[in-house]
Amino acid sequence: MAAAAGVKTSPDFPVPETMKAWVLGNPGELILVRKPVPVPRRAEVLLRIDAVAICATDLEVIDHGSPALIQGGMPFNKNFTPGHEYMGTVVALGPGVDEYRIGQRVTVEIHAGCGQCKRCREGMYTSCFNYGLNHGDVDKGHRANGFTTDGGFCEYQVNNINTLVAIADGMSDEEATLVVTAGTAMYGLTELGGLVAGESVAVTGPGPIGLLGVAVAKALGPSPVILTGTRDNRLKIGRELGADHVVNIRNEDAVEAVRRLNGGKGVDYVIECSGAPNAVNDAIHMVNRGGKVCLAAFPHQETPVDVAHIVRNNIYLYGIRGEGKSATHRAEAFMAQKRFDATKIHTHTFALDDLPTAIRYAKDRVDDAIKVVVKARGVAAQRVAAE
Ligand SMILES: [Zn+2]
Ligand SMILES: [Zn+2]
Repeated sequence: MAAAAGVKTSPDFPVPETMKAWVLGNPGELILVRKPVPVPRRAEVLLRIDAVAICATDLEVIDHGSPALIQGGMPFNKNFTPGHEYMGTVVALGPGVDEYRIGQRVTVEIHAGCGQCKRCREGMYTSCFNYGLNHGDVDKGHRANGFTTDGGFCEYQVNNINTLVAIADGMSDEEATLVVTAGTAMYGLTELGGLVAGESVAVTGPGPIGLLGVAVAKALGPSPVILTGTRDNRLKIGRELGADHVVNIRNEDAVEAVRRLNGGKGVDYVIECSGAPNAVNDAIHMVNRGGKVCLAAFPHQETPVDVAHIVRNNIYLYGIRGEGKSATHRAEAFMAQKRFDATKIHTHTFALDDLPTAIRYAKDRVDDAIKVVVKARGVAAQRVAAE
């Protein structure tokens, strides 16, 4: 890291000048390069990244670009480092920062927001009006690491202190990478009203957000919690994380099953995490009149929706982006209190050098992979063994 006025470091955590970093070349192409270690500015710290999880949205960014936005356009061949679900150790403090100390373990939220627009002021920093306006002549201070600024597939990264979540001592690096995933589920539930004790909830799609959606929802006290999906091994994990009922939609109709399991009247809340083409229509038929649907997945195509059914039944639809309103702090609290064991969805760990293999595992679900974690230190490279 280059020397900079007001930046504090410690001999206990020496910071090198340069680091290993993966950058996105053409679509689907990752290249390992060396980059300068970034310097924290006001209200920022430098983290040594200890672990980073691969998210379905990373796969989307690497192959298709969106929703990353670098210098106002697609992220390809711009020396951009993706990766957003990371945790690490604070190794340098930007000017004036005393909220965290060097050596402290933290996990991170993705979105810093600009801090000055209406949505940021409301705590909806994942919906910042200045998303991606951090280049050229405009610098609104917006950061969404791994989307509009460099992310976590490297050894060090700077983070705004508002994106840091202190983690419990007993929490492993791997578990800490899952806090932001749980935080996304928590944000969805926050937007639906947050108070779900005694209410009925269905979660559709047992990916990482869906599975932790079950876990976070269950911790908030609803009954019953119903999980639908197509893979029995994932539904089994859903049960372990708190689902009262699981429905394999290859064997029975999802809407009928959910309605039957809640006495025929449909559920109060649906958290839609599958992104399947018929998912929105299924969800609006799973909820009861006046029910609420949280849409947490990015579908690939536009789909027709039965709007008349929504209107006739006063159904609410919420589009949820990321992890706003400090939901990640609440999710971490549940995890620190051992209200659920998020590590049930962590399946594989690879060395940072083996990122392309790790990504293949996540993408092709090799060996039933769910959450695949990459670590820069402490994990032997296993290029051959992993094949
Ligand atoms: Zn993610
Ligand atoms: Zn903003």
